[in-house]
Amino acid sequence: RGNLLDVSDLRVVFYTYRGLIQALNGVELWLNSGEKLGIVGESGCGKSVTSLAMMRLIEQPGEILSGSIRFDGQDLAKLDEDALNKIRGRDMAMIFQEPKSALNPVMKVGFQIAESIWRSDNAKSKRRVYQEVRKMLELVGLDSDRTINLYPHELSGGMAQRIMIAIALSSRPKLLIADEPTSALDVTIQIQILELLQELVKKLQYAAILITHDMGVAAEFCDKITVMYAGNTVEHSETMNIFEKPYHPYTQGLFKAVPDIGRTDELATIPGVVPDLVAPPSGCRFHPRCPHCMEQCQQTFPPLIEIEPGHHVACYLYLKEGDTHAN
Ligand code: SF4
Ligand code: MG
Repeated sequence: RGNLLDVSDLRVVFYTYRGLIQALNGVELWLNSGEKLGIVGESGCGKSVTSLAMMRLIEQPGEILSGSIRFDGQDLAKLDEDALNKIRGRDMAMIFQEPKSALNPVMKVGFQIAESIWRSDNAKSKRRVYQEVRKMLELVGLDSDRTINLYPHELSGGMAQRIMIAIALSSRPKLLIADEPTSALDVTIQIQILELLQELVKKLQYAAILITHDMGVAAEFCDKITVMYAGNTVEHSETMNIFEKPYHPYTQGLFKAVPDIGRTDELATIPGVVPDLVAPPSGCRFHPRCPHCMEQCQQTFPPLIEIEPGHHVACYLYLKEGDTHAN
């Protein structure tokens, strides 16, 4: 499906005192080199867990139960820690929601960028790396003279996120994953950071995954969109397609919940709440909230099928005779 990343049947659980949380229930996700994919859904649908699982960063009490994570010719699900460490922060780099907590507090930001450059090529001379650090700082819109020797606590939130982006891009990743990279920032700074990311990803032609609960942001940034609900992929398509013709009742609800610019109506919301994943609904996990729920929906999980070229949906409304296999 995707030539750079192809995640299939990814299942993750967390063992808690309340019971087993079935956080990811067979996620399907793929993308090609150079593509920008948005992962969207309400909070708690498993977007962040998916990105952590892809990098094999799920820690106790969590566990990956099954799934293949094919990335650039290898199945990350089968690699050991040593091999994974060569990929993380290098071929696959990540930007988090809280930039300050992701930075090393006792190291100057210039040095943190230098480390990332060394990770991609440890044969570079100090002088060369120093020049590249300066270039990276300018690339993310910072004055290199003023910022290179700062410590993380001396940065504003927006500056810290620019530094995180510089670190992530310094390793020349094949895939950049950004998990709600702007949600901790003020609105005006959010826009600046998103514009910067968009510009850089385009200029440098990296593949990128943007995790967001904001459909507008996803539409701006992404070529393709994967919609998640309660630990499942429920729809995947090109961005234009999914906005013009959302098929899954959940996706349709998500779009209704996006306010039109200039309209003063109250924000529509999807009735019902995100299910408790300790005791998820049987069959289609969306069925308690779905206006089209049928008997079959309550019994078995609908497979993700391609109903039009490039448009995949997991919903019995579109399942035809003979469509029994996922994809
Ligand atoms: Fe609704 Fe059934 Fe489709 Fe689930 S499978 S979204 S319950 S119609
Ligand atoms: Mg999250």
